[in-house]
Amino acid sequence: MGIAFFPDDALDSETLIIKADQAMYEVKKDGRNGWQFYTQEMQRKSEKRHSLYNELVSAVNNEELSVYYQPIYCNKEERIVGCEALVRWKRAGGSFIPPDEFIPLAEESGLVIRIDHFVLKTARDFISSLNTETGLNIGLSVNVSARLLYMRDESSQAWFYEIKAPSNTPITVEITERILVEDATRALQVLNDLSASGIQISIDDFGTGYSGLSYLSRFPVNAFKIDRSFVDKIGKLKTEEALIETMLLMAEKLQIKVVAEGVETQEQLDFLRDLSCDFSQGYFIGRPMPDSQFREHLLDSLPAK
Ligand code: C2E
Ligand code: CA
Ligand code: CA
Repeated sequence: MGIAFFPDDALDSETLIIKADQAMYEVKKDGRNGWQFYTQEMQRKSEKRHSLYNELVSAVNNEELSVYYQPIYCNKEERIVGCEALVRWKRAGGSFIPPDEFIPLAEESGLVIRIDHFVLKTARDFISSLNTETGLNIGLSVNVSARLLYMRDESSQAWFYEIKAPSNTPITVEITERILVEDATRALQVLNDLSASGIQISIDDFGTGYSGLSYLSRFPVNAFKIDRSFVDKIGKLKTEEALIETMLLMAEKLQIKVVAEGVETQEQLDFLRDLSCDFSQGYFIGRPMPDSQFREHLLDSLPAK
């Protein structure tokens, strides 16, 4: 519930409702089931959001977004086997706006569909030509928002038929647990379709959501990514180490692959490798980087012939 007062917050009913709605928006952001009074601070935030959104629309229209690639490393084979495509938005002034700031904005409006589409196409083209060039089979992981996943109309359904195109590039779709909880019936249908067309499904930020574990057997899940917040505690907190160990054991039993996220140190990598975690991703392996740099990084990492 959002609450606004006459006459302090607005003098007419229409504006009053808009302001109550802004207050409600804040409640929803904090996890729903609560209430808030409207404040001036909310007005400032809302204006900022609005102008950022307009900027984002023009960035999308003018193709000012780009894609960075972060290596995914096979702990056993000790080599890069894939990458995650991450969108980047560089504003006119030269500063980067983090995706955590603009993706939620884009999700509200549906603009995220165009963004995800762009990332998907750009990354697919790049990685598949890189694979052709090198003869490798580097996999590509993309983040897919619920909006894109649940699109109904036919033209847009084409998005996933499009991604299965290159045969030399295994593609993984990363989704959050939230997607599975929101509409399980629909999720099952779409994920089965994706799976049938040869696309892998990976659960992002695993362990941070609020869904039950049963979805790991109910949905066609190929992998999950242990969230950075757990990896960060390796060597510091025994309880979190125990959780990682348990996640890995569970994955092994279910024959699900595991990617550890946010690996920043040798110690973390060793810990994960000792527990037979399949893949690592993080600054220790490589930061997200532009395409040309990723190509170089990959070529440099290959054993000399
Ligand atoms: P994510 O999918 O969990 O992506 C991993 C994030 O962790 C990335 O942040 C990456 O830069 C960061 N990261 C990787 N290794 C390390 C590390 O060792 N230490 C630390 N501290 N951070 C690390 P980024 O690029 O800022 O993206 C944030 C989130 O935005 C992503 O989280 C994802 O949820 C979303 N996102 C990014 N690109 C896209 C996209 O193209 N489409 C959609 N729908 N969402 C995207
Ligand atoms: Ca991800
Ligand atoms: Ca993640």
